[in-house]
Amino acid sequence: MATTALDLARVRNIGIMAHIDAGKTTTTERILFYTGVNYKIGEVHEGAATMDWMEQEQERGITITSAATTCHWTLEDVDNTINIIDTPGHVDFTVEVERSLRVLDGAVTVFDGVAGVEPQSETVWRQADRYGVPRICFVNKLDRTGAEFFRCVDMIVDRLGATPLVMQVPIGAEADFQGVVDLVRMKALVWSAEAAKGEMYDVVDIPATHTEIAQTWREKLVETISEHDEEMMEMFLEGQEPSEEQLFAAIRRATIASTSEEKKDEPTFTPVFCGTAFKNKGVQPLLDAVVRYLPSPLDREVIEGHKVGDESTVIERRPAETEPLAALAFKIMSDPHLGKLTFVRVYSGRMESGSAVLNSVKGKKERIGKIYRMHANKREEIPSAGAGDIVAVMGLKDTTTGETLSDSANPVILESMTFPAPVIQVA
Ligand code: GDP
Repeated sequence: MATTALDLARVRNIGIMAHIDAGKTTTTERILFYTGVNYKIGEVHEGAATMDWMEQEQERGITITSAATTCHWTLEDVDNTINIIDTPGHVDFTVEVERSLRVLDGAVTVFDGVAGVEPQSETVWRQADRYGVPRICFVNKLDRTGAEFFRCVDMIVDRLGATPLVMQVPIGAEADFQGVVDLVRMKALVWSAEAAKGEMYDVVDIPATHTEIAQTWREKLVETISEHDEEMMEMFLEGQEPSEEQLFAAIRRATIASTSEEKKDEPTFTPVFCGTAFKNKGVQPLLDAVVRYLPSPLDREVIEGHKVGDESTVIERRPAETEPLAALAFKIMSDPHLGKLTFVRVYSGRMESGSAVLNSVKGKKERIGKIYRMHANKREEIPSAGAGDIVAVMGLKDTTTGETLSDSANPVILESMTFPAPVIQVA
């Protein structure tokens, strides 16, 4: 069996949120496709692995059927684990949507480049604000007639009241959409015809036609980030140009901080990317951005729960294996091969297969059966799952969604039974 120890700083638990039809499914499928290719390249013979994956995809399509799918993305030679939590497509204000937001640490919001910010996107945006979920945006479908990246950026300001940080400038539009200028690296990323076959994009100098617009937006980027980050502000005032690393770090800090409790009333700060999931242009830089700018489980310093039988007594847990076990069941699914699977996010401690834990809500002992990480094309049995992990567990008899599994000697309840009142959408 595979080892389970995760480097928590290298884990991203994310959701993909969108208005219906904006391209959530397509983007997710592209992510699973590219992470499959990217991960296999590290392991097996390059060409063959890519081919296998392509053939598989052509045969049956890669679809996300699991409540949480684990994939891997290598950035600067380091492997990252990305768990994609399926947030319900139809926003119907149910507890299920709220719960899925609760178990993720960050999200990608997908917009349709033609329609821009639609009513449903506003609803999910506000829900994510309420749960303090940091977000990056992906303006999709730039290949479509009538797509307008900067109109969508304006709508992020006007409709969502957020502070967008434009990270890319598109090169070409509609049928002629060719690539983007990366405003941190000040390079053009251009997708060749080969990109459709799973190749990476080419990194080239910014075309002369785009140097001026790139310069303008680069200045805006540094200025906006400086308004949100003290370290950048100092450099800005001293007229120093930040390095790539300094910019990456500052954007990450500001993105995560803007959804914190202290800054709840200030605009949410969100890096904005663009492309077309459909034609495979833009999803790889988006994956880089997920790793660079969205938080890891370690960025949540404490997880609050409460004492059994007393909602007013707060119990804190830290995202560490040395803490007592605290895990939340967030979805129950029936797998055609395995039967009943309970999807669980482990917040603290470690959960071993075969061990006894306490369902602290029901006051019942439960035995943990087999534990799986669910991948797009396979499931991986693991002996245990630790803080930060999202896994599927077999064998739980009495646990329903929203219930906490904890260490018997240190019970805690993670979720209060009363949810905040739903936001009523005004059409
Ligand atoms: P979801 O409802 O948000 O999951 O949206 P889907 O991923 O199912 O996409 C909705 C429709 O838009 C489908 O017909 C997709 O093929 C199409 N689509 C998705 N992404 C793009 C894109 O980048 N460009 C174009 N032209 N069509 C796209």
